Amino acid sequence: MTRDQVFEFFRRLAEANPSPTTELESTNPYQLLVAVVLSAQATDASVNIATKPLFARIKTPKQMVDFGEEPLRQAIKTIGLFNTKAKNVIALSQALIDGHGSEIPRTREELQELPGVGRKTANVVLNTAFGEETFAVDTHVFRVCNRTGLAPGKTVDDVEAKLEKIVPQPFRRDAHHWLILHGRYTCKARLPECWRCPVIDLCRYKPKTPPPEERAKPSAARSGSRASSRARTAKGRTASTRSAGRSRARPSRLP
Ligand code: SF4
Repeated sequence: MTRDQVFEFFRRLAEANPSPTTELESTNPYQLLVAVVLSAQATDASVNIATKPLFARIKTPKQMVDFGEEPLRQAIKTIGLFNTKAKNVIALSQALIDGHGSEIPRTREELQELPGVGRKTANVVLNTAFGEETFAVDTHVFRVCNRTGLAPGKTVDDVEAKLEKIVPQPFRRDAHHWLILHGRYTCKARLPECWRCPVIDLCRYKPKTPPPEERAKPSAARSGSRASSRARTAKGRTASTRSAGRSRARPSRLP
């Protein structure tokens, strides 16, 4: 994409959703960090269901450590990988108490030193809690960037580096939210909903998915043609059966 096309891409996503944010629910940076750690390979909706009662009583690293690993495991057992996640959340909470005065560090390096915190989690926290212009690349962002040609790359690090380079102001802070939401609700993994996509003319993905009513037509036509082919086959079978019958009958008459 050209620089103008990249600008237009984000301008349109911004127009459709001027104030995007994460769908993970939290009331402070600590809860956000825990929610992002829990969201690895899980949906935001499933994390919110588990964290709603949990976060009503736990708002600080100390409260989490006092709560304990086994009760935490029970509280998040509906989320995938809950055993490892419970262990990490308790360990990162203890690390925050021991090394950061229970505050959330504001650098990527310090965040990544916490148990269970990778680059993507650190980027989300820096962006959402502290307003930094970071580009967290999850599965949705990776897919959208490659499909559209916006920031193609073989690895999430490649895509992140490209986004760093090409995303213009004033879109840098919210770019990753727009890309996540676009991937989650429009440019879906199995069937991108191109017919209602605001950036359809800028995207290089082919073939574009037509609207449902147009997709229904060919299948109706196919089923029509299947029906007529069945009819043809039935006729053919009948004809051949009859002709087979005749041919079987013929020898008995011919001699
Ligand atoms: S046109 Fe289709 S493939 Fe391209 S961004 Fe939109 S939904 Fe995704």
